[in-house]
Amino acid sequence: MRDFSGGHEWLSINTATVRKQHGQEVPLDRIVDQCAERGIRAISPWRDQVAALGIERLARQLTAHGIGLSGYCRGGFFPAVDAAGLQAALDDNRRAIDEAKLLGAPCVVLVVGALPGALDGRALYKDIGRARGEVRDGIAASLDHAREVGMPLAIEPLHPMQAADRACINTLEQALDLCDELDPERGGMLGVAVDVYHVWWDPKLREQIERAGAERLLAYHVCDWLTPTRDLLSDRGMMGDGVVELKKIRGWVEAAGYRGFSEVEIFSALDWWQRSGEDVLDACIERHRSQV
Ligand code: ZN
Repeated sequence: MRDFSGGHEWLSINTATVRKQHGQEVPLDRIVDQCAERGIRAISPWRDQVAALGIERLARQLTAHGIGLSGYCRGGFFPAVDAAGLQAALDDNRRAIDEAKLLGAPCVVLVVGALPGALDGRALYKDIGRARGEVRDGIAASLDHAREVGMPLAIEPLHPMQAADRACINTLEQALDLCDELDPERGGMLGVAVDVYHVWWDPKLREQIERAGAERLLAYHVCDWLTPTRDLLSDRGMMGDGVVELKKIRGWVEAAGYRGFSEVEIFSALDWWQRSGEDVLDACIERHRSQV
């Protein structure tokens, strides 16, 4: 297992971690500068931030700083109530793949979606089996374009508490079953994003990480699970402040062959978003060295 205690060359920052400080949207170019000042070598930005800044401008800024991407957030949200909605999702995923390619990302992270409309509080249907079928078909269709341009897709299983509104793929096993079905030859264009927040509790976690292997492990996200958790979406903890055995899980991931970045992804409306971005990044560096 790699020793992270002496530096942070394998630290990446998911830009959601430092984008809403004190209730204000922090522009992406400022986040990139803050990372560059600290010698952080990678980020994972969100599409709306990239669109607001301008993708060409971001690409130039990243090149100037020598900063790469550990992933691109995000594709997915495939289910819809009608054919037009399904097609719109495919078109949007195609654009996400092209943007990721332009930015040189190693993968597009897929938050696959669930019951259409549920995110707005009004599910347009209740059949989660149907949603899972539409996710399968959506990934299969998107995979064609991903293969054409050479941009891997990383399915991120989300904790079951988000099965209704964000992702109906909820375990690593379920994600890997889909990978095996759609990419049986393990061609390198379909895999998983392992986010400890979503999968730490899974009794099959170790065996499924082993099953994934280096070809399927495309991204690794860290934060911590707080007790109590006060909000289902935005009460993630800083590494070391919760109950996730971070070093143990990274050991499994690395034993399976993963050698990429450890991406910090913390949605924390109640705590870390109430501090300055600089302070949060400094804490990420310290905890990356001591806790991850
Ligand atoms: Zn994640």
